[in-house]
Amino acid sequence: MKSLTVYLLTNLIVGFVTAQNIRYDISFPNAVHHEAEISLTVKNAKAGPAIFRMSRSSPGRYATHEFGKNIYALTAWDKAGKQLEITRTDADVYEVARHSGFIKVRYTLFGYYADGTYASVDETGAHLNMPATLLWMKGMEKDSSLIEVNFSLPESKNWTIATQLKPAARPNLFTAPGMQYLMDSPVKIGKLKYQQWQLQNPDGKPYSIRLALDAAATEEQAKDFAVKIKNITRQAQAVYGETPVYDYGTYTFLVSINPYVYGDGMEHRNSTMITLPEVFNGSNDELEAFSHEFFHCWNVERIRPKSLEPFNFEKSNMSSELWLAEGFTQYYGDLLMKRCGYYSNEAWFGAVSRYINAKEAVPGGKEYSPVDNSRNAVFVDAGVAVDKTNYPNHFSSYYPYGAAIALALDLTLRDSFNSSLDDFMRLLWKKHGKPEKPYTVADVQKALTELTGSAAFAAGFFNRYIYGHESFDYAAALAKAGFVLKNVNAGKAWLGNAKFTDGLKIAGPTVKNTPLYNGGLDVGDEIISIEGKSIATPDELSAAIAAYQPGKEITLSYKHNGDTKTVKLVLGQSPFFSIATFESEGKEIDSKVANFRENWWGNKIKE
Ligand SMILES: [Zn+2]
Repeated sequence: MKSLTVYLLTNLIVGFVTAQNIRYDISFPNAVHHEAEISLTVKNAKAGPAIFRMSRSSPGRYATHEFGKNIYALTAWDKAGKQLEITRTDADVYEVARHSGFIKVRYTLFGYYADGTYASVDETGAHLNMPATLLWMKGMEKDSSLIEVNFSLPESKNWTIATQLKPAARPNLFTAPGMQYLMDSPVKIGKLKYQQWQLQNPDGKPYSIRLALDAAATEEQAKDFAVKIKNITRQAQAVYGETPVYDYGTYTFLVSINPYVYGDGMEHRNSTMITLPEVFNGSNDELEAFSHEFFHCWNVERIRPKSLEPFNFEKSNMSSELWLAEGFTQYYGDLLMKRCGYYSNEAWFGAVSRYINAKEAVPGGKEYSPVDNSRNAVFVDAGVAVDKTNYPNHFSSYYPYGAAIALALDLTLRDSFNSSLDDFMRLLWKKHGKPEKPYTVADVQKALTELTGSAAFAAGFFNRYIYGHESFDYAAALAKAGFVLKNVNAGKAWLGNAKFTDGLKIAGPTVKNTPLYNGGLDVGDEIISIEGKSIATPDELSAAIAAYQPGKEITLSYKHNGDTKTVKLVLGQSPFFSIATFESEGKEIDSKVANFRENWWGNKIKE
């Protein structure tokens, strides 16, 4: 009895303190024209001007965006339904200068881009990433008071709502413990097909994993597809030994596989938004994004870089750690596909080759560190600009580059420390993920010292490959697993890795240390002849080059801004690598190599 009194009292006090001050109401009266009507109601607003704004960044997307461009027709109202003056003080900022604590701001949202960042509304449903959808009041970003989100759905449509937001007592009403969680919680509305399974942790606690699928699939196809995804979730769980404690007990895959979306995968704390622009077929080819995104519920959502906390919604957070947060996730996305048996050997070896090339064959990897490259994410992660960039000469994506670091570390730990990257991820989970203690690069180096027992090794690895950009000896490391590292097209002449438009017009900046670059050609130049012989297509160019050996000096003519120029340039050899098994090279493998491979990419689920 006593405890009940205490409970009731506590409940009343808590109820009073967290009185619901913020509520969103979202409806779709003009879905056919891609509009949503949204209102934000603030009760008990502080005295003085209230500032409302749209976000310029979105959790998981590392570049800056301008979501303010797609809201309009703003009005503000008081409790009695009397209009308040609302002033636009900046492109995406609005002010209600005079109010008496109750403010309701209404606006129209236009959305026609279904991916992991933006919003889309139409007659088939709504696809809402919250920063692209919700106006917010300054101060909310630091407040963890409960926020209500209410949806009014058209009655005739049989739509349902899938989200990581907490369902409230009545349908279509959800809550979020503050704006940081709300903005991390995308919402998918439509005719969704649901599948659900459970993952059991060693402590006996089960967690529900849900698939909410928007695709032209039968129930049977959705069920079969879910069985495959379940396998991925179990392989990922096996790396860490347990799943995170999902808030509200459930993790949700919000998935659109149809030709009307844009390709993307975006991780969130207890869900992911996956959009594949193709007709659903349920094949293994459609699973890669699931593997990558699910691994994120440990690596980045809970093993979290300090630089991403708290999330800044007014500009993107710069992070030095995306080589780990994204690159290691890229590596595991592919590795889990292999462990599940969803990748052929060719697909897996192709992925490994791409990692190595991102680090060892392009200027962004050879001359810039993973830390440097991570810091460029604010420009490159779906960042949109009209002017051209010189990324081919100073940037290599932290996805494959980070995966190249993961590969180097995994092979080294397996060969020299009787350990593996799985062990390292499990240690990071124990030290930083499970206790939700955000990390810095220095913390990761400390963890590597702890795992290997060698501060000298950890310092050497970080100084050479994380803060630095030294070349890693992949040939030696891969030999332990029975692979040879080969130069692509060895012994064949090569002009450079240029892409062409309109015949032979160079489409992007030429790359340092390639014959085209050394010959003075660059973006916009159009190749017209080699050794006096006219050529007009990429195929004709390849055929002409194939007649020579690397090292041969040739005469090449091209057009630059209307002028014809002729240069002499020395043909080179492709810097790109591929890997091949010892067996395919006619070499036997012993049981040690076979075991190395099995431990590396064999099935980790013990039935
Ligand atoms: Zn990712």
